[in-house]
Amino acid sequence: MKQVDILIIGAGISGSVLAERYAAMGKKVLIIEKRNHIAGNCYDYIDENGILVSKYGAHLFHTNEESVWKYVNKFSQWYPWEHKVIARVDDKTVPIPVNITTVNELFSANITSEEEMKNWLEENRTPIETPANGEEAVLNRVGTVLYEKMFKHYTKKQWDKYPAELDASVLDRIPVRFNYDDRYFSDTYQALPQGGYTQLFENIISHPNIEVLLETDYFDVKDDYSGYEKLFYTGPVDRFFDFKYSLTEKLEYRSINFVSETVDAEFFQENSVVNYPGTEVDFTRIIEYKHFGNQQSEKTTVVREFTVDEGEPYYPVPNPKNGEIYKKYQEEAEKLVDVHFVGRLANYKYFNMDQAFKNALDLFDSLEKKDSITYKTAG
Ligand SMILES: Cc1cc2nc3c(=O)[nH]c(=O)nc-3n(C[C@H](O)[C@H](O)[C@H](O)COP(=O)(O)OP(=O)(O)OC[C@H]3O[C@@H](n4cnc5c(N)ncnc54)[C@H](O)[C@@H]3O)c2cc1C
Repeated sequence: MKQVDILIIGAGISGSVLAERYAAMGKKVLIIEKRNHIAGNCYDYIDENGILVSKYGAHLFHTNEESVWKYVNKFSQWYPWEHKVIARVDDKTVPIPVNITTVNELFSANITSEEEMKNWLEENRTPIETPANGEEAVLNRVGTVLYEKMFKHYTKKQWDKYPAELDASVLDRIPVRFNYDDRYFSDTYQALPQGGYTQLFENIISHPNIEVLLETDYFDVKDDYSGYEKLFYTGPVDRFFDFKYSLTEKLEYRSINFVSETVDAEFFQENSVVNYPGTEVDFTRIIEYKHFGNQQSEKTTVVREFTVDEGEPYYPVPNPKNGEIYKKYQEEAEKLVDVHFVGRLANYKYFNMDQAFKNALDLFDSLEKKDSITYKTAG
């Protein structure tokens, strides 16, 4: 049996942050990662066209959390990047989230002010006091015409469920802008790591106390590593318990097929991300990575994203049935001493990157009873 102080399963955000924190306090940390790389779903690399691409979909960092912003700046330089998304709808191209331009373009309206935009939404929305599902949440917010064009089929493509089959919470906070603001996020900090995410993670875990074992599934070696002070598990919660509550009804996840293509042209599309909310194509969006950081290359790489049922689990599917199954696992997890379930898959909850950082930092703080995080870095 091999001795380590802290055993961490998964080298994504959650695992890497906890490794860094424990290594900085002198603990010997081992990270076991089943993939052949670190950085979890944030992993990026230079492809055959010399372009920095993300293996698991474009990752745009945005946060209002001062503490998270401070923390990530310890490990990389960041350059400002205000992300924008456009959508092809019918034969038009419109900004997402919905703003004044979106409505004017799609419905030949002539809105010019915040007040007119609010009036338009008020006239078009279907007020529902307590939306019971995703469809009612969208109708309550924007009404039928926008629902049909922008949300209904996109949701079906993304979740393989119509909005009516999903929790209201999945769609009740869809952003709508009353002005011309065409930024995708409105957070205070919006930036990308200079040198990419993989380099950021290399820096986070570059401490002599941290060892990383790649291409190793924890469940294949678990008996070799049972002598630890604490275990942090960041994989799917149902896998940890051998799917014991999912034998008849599976805890559902959505996965994505990333289909990459080299295009022999300077650019393929006018923006990094173009969404396709309609039924005319099966994919949800096309990403052209060259736009991020204004990269130079003779050719360009585009990736079409098809959301599918089978494959790597990316998105938990929030609905009452899954909620009930997850609750049973959560109760089991809470009974364990010195085993902590951290991150997106272990908590069966979608986290943005900044939430994953914050969650891991907060957990460390709560376990080690620190009043504040002392950003002591490696080495
Ligand atoms: C397609 C997509 C796009 C996204 N875009 C954005 C974005 O633009 N902005 C944003 O803020 N967030 C985005 N996110 C969310 C972001 O990826 C997550 O917040 C982040 O990855 C969560 O980190 P984590 O450590 O919880 O999980 P992960 O990154 O999933 O890390 C878990 C790790 O555990 C490993 N593992 C699992 N089981 C085992 C096992 N049995 N043995 C060993 N290792 C194991 C996995 O291989 C993985 O590397 C996106 C997510 C996806 C899926």
